[in-house]
Amino acid sequence: MIPLLEPHLGGNEARYVRECLDSGYVSSVGPFVERFEREFAAYVGSRYAVACASGTAALHVALRLAGALTGSLVAVSDFTFIASANAITYTGAEPLLVDSEPRTWNMDGELLHDEVTRRARLGERIPDVIEIVHILGHPAEMDALLDLRDRYGITIVEDAAESLGARYTRGPLAGRHVGTIGTLGCFSFNGNKIITTGGGGMITTDDPDLATRARHLTTQAKLPGPGYHHDQIGYNYRLSNIAAALGVAQLEQLPAFLNAKRAIAATYDRVLADLPVTLPPRAPWAAPSFWLYSTILHSAPEARDWILHDLAIHGIQARPMWPPLHSQRPHTSARRLGGPMADQLFQSSLSLPSSTPLAPRQQATLAAHLRDSFFTLFDFHGAGAGPWRPPLMATGSRPV
Ligand SMILES: *Cc1c(COP(=O)(O)O)cnc(C)c1O
Repeated sequence: MIPLLEPHLGGNEARYVRECLDSGYVSSVGPFVERFEREFAAYVGSRYAVACASGTAALHVALRLAGALTGSLVAVSDFTFIASANAITYTGAEPLLVDSEPRTWNMDGELLHDEVTRRARLGERIPDVIEIVHILGHPAEMDALLDLRDRYGITIVEDAAESLGARYTRGPLAGRHVGTIGTLGCFSFNGNKIITTGGGGMITTDDPDLATRARHLTTQAKLPGPGYHHDQIGYNYRLSNIAAALGVAQLEQLPAFLNAKRAIAATYDRVLADLPVTLPPRAPWAAPSFWLYSTILHSAPEARDWILHDLAIHGIQARPMWPPLHSQRPHTSARRLGGPMADQLFQSSLSLPSSTPLAPRQQATLAAHLRDSFFTLFDFHGAGAGPWRPPLMATGSRPV
């Protein structure tokens, strides 16, 4: 079986975990937590980093620090993993689901900008916080959002859970990493993310006060000193020293992981170039991290499902992307801004195995099966076949 995304534990993981076991520091106190935070902050270029139990926990605390609470409105992408929006509802705030734009598939900042400008003119309620998600490893366009921040004092929190290592390469943000543009940034180290701690997350910020408050909230809001004194409702959200030990080892391999992801994406680009699919976005001003290679098929969702099925028979795990949040039961009543883009992205989407341990030979086999699937499904003869023709099969049927 070739999995969609699997962790790559190829470095000092065992050695560092062994050090935790030998020293007895296995819980949320220990030298690896501090080291992971320091090295992570240095890597992404933020002044502070606060390790958390998960990416979702990081988002929850970051949103709370950004001012999200009962009665506030937080703009977020409609097209993202559900944790982005769940974290908003944990704070008591209400999500405003904003549609995607076609250039990066991330939140349509211009759409939000127009709406906020209109509402502000009419004296209507505007979002208190923008949670910008950088999906699938591709940085989001920030210009319109930064303008909203400057004009209306809206706080920006970045959900960079999928995009560690992605950067901007041109314009005023050139050289900056995702997760360091907003007031607070959040990352995930879940098993399927770019680096993993088994489960974990990170909050980044340049603001010393926010970093202190993040650390405080994630440790049950316990006041310094020997007693059990707490000044507010906090959380048990700290990362363990064992998990941080994995994180330090993974961070050492991050440049190699990013190179591997880039090579995998380049191979898929080549393999799919002549097929009726939309390749993943690649803005000229961005250096994506290519977390999960995802495409849109120019055909009915049923055709995509058939390809998924056919790949599964050959031991290849592929997946559709996320159904838009507005179609997910917990968020069906959320306010929405925008049109059909999120639905269109989901409908015929296909994510392909993108693990860094994926060997070039494995990927070649996979690519061959993928092309076979396409050729079986469609009356399609490769490059120069002329215009796109519909599937041979009737919609909804399976040619097996
Ligand atoms: C994975 C993910 C999260 C949540 O991270 P966990 O560590 O799994 O809690 C949040 N947002 C996005 C976009 C993600 O992909």
